[in-house]
Amino acid sequence: MVPLASCRKAGEPATFLREHRERKSEGTEPVRFMDRPAFGRLLAELARRGYAVIGPTLRGGAIVLDHVEGLEDLPRGLGSRHGPGVYSLLRRDDDRLFGQAPGPDSAKRFLFPPRERLATVSRPGGRLTVDRAADGEPPRYAFVGLRACDLQAVLIQDRVFLGGPYRDEPYEARRDGAFFLAANCTDPGQTCFCTSTGTGPWCRAGFDVAVTEIDGGMVAEVGTAEGREVLDAAGAREASPDEIAASDRAVRQAADRIDRRPDLRGIGEVLYRNAGNPVWDEIAERCLACGNCTAVCPTCFCHDVVDTASITGQEAERSREWASCFSEEFTHVAGGSPIRASGASRYRQWLTHKFASWRDQFGVPGCVGCGRCVTWCPAGIDILEVLAAIRARDGERDHDERHRTAVR
Ligand code: SF4
Ligand code: SF4
Repeated sequence: MVPLASCRKAGEPATFLREHRERKSEGTEPVRFMDRPAFGRLLAELARRGYAVIGPTLRGGAIVLDHVEGLEDLPRGLGSRHGPGVYSLLRRDDDRLFGQAPGPDSAKRFLFPPRERLATVSRPGGRLTVDRAADGEPPRYAFVGLRACDLQAVLIQDRVFLGGPYRDEPYEARRDGAFFLAANCTDPGQTCFCTSTGTGPWCRAGFDVAVTEIDGGMVAEVGTAEGREVLDAAGAREASPDEIAASDRAVRQAADRIDRRPDLRGIGEVLYRNAGNPVWDEIAERCLACGNCTAVCPTCFCHDVVDTASITGQEAERSREWASCFSEEFTHVAGGSPIRASGASRYRQWLTHKFASWRDQFGVPGCVGCGRCVTWCPAGIDILEVLAAIRARDGERDHDERHRTAVR
């Protein structure tokens, strides 16, 4: 198990969020408009530039991120319904391409893959050789249709993997080559709460181009010089005042429809002083410790390092794999025993890290309000309900000392 790599006590301000790339167009760049054919040309231009274009697409009854060859691969006319432990697709009465809230995938699966080889060790002729070479050139991804919350999640993972004294080279290689065509959210899910975390629905940082889908096409904001180039290549024209007003209206209405407004004031201190609250036990009775919430969370970054040897003993491989703080194995420490033996203590660790100690480490919270952990929890556990219950029962004490392991 790897300690939380490159974590540091951040002396940085707790503002959201520093940008990975400098935006080159602030305030001076005309807003553009693309009709559907122009948007198709933009996708082709990204492929022509050597990007692997990754966008929302329908697979196995869900909208997931995958390779997109052209407009026909995007989920035209599909919407989505979300609730605690609930996800379904629905047919819209228009042909929008980005008319769904985010599915289970985020950029994390591509920039920080679930499993990757770190090194191969072999001993040809008895001589030990270590090969740390990556599997070929790092892919250059162009992400299409990521929402504001997911851009912020990438910026958070940048802090984790690149912000400390040790830079994570495999992550950096993929991250540096990536292009982001983001989509301002016009159709939030019922589990979203980005307006409360300050991370959406407008894309404010970390994009090359940000589009808003309206009737007839996309209104596009330039974020970087390369973003401008691909818009030019696609033949994007200057947007009319009516088109800009329609795009502003669409995102404002989306913000108004987000009715989950949790009280997050001082939530870190509330969690820190409630390590022994009985709510943790009550949640643990429902929690299956499946780790779904950590897998779908776009900011969760914990991982394990696993060594495997060939049956001949001539080769071994070291890989990195996603890990989850919900597994008991994750909490094993030197000497052999788990430091968080109960499900209650593991659930508490996850939530307290997200909303309290993450801020101590990285200067920002670990939650971007995407709602995925609520939608994809098979037990329908809703983190906002848990936070509200802890706040409502602030100071109650469970007298069972098993759960009193340190949370900081
Ligand atoms: S904790 Fe839940 S709502 Fe917050 S970023 Fe992770 S998956 Fe999204
Ligand atoms: S909170 Fe839900 S998704 Fe997370 S480990 Fe428990 S049952 Fe699984």
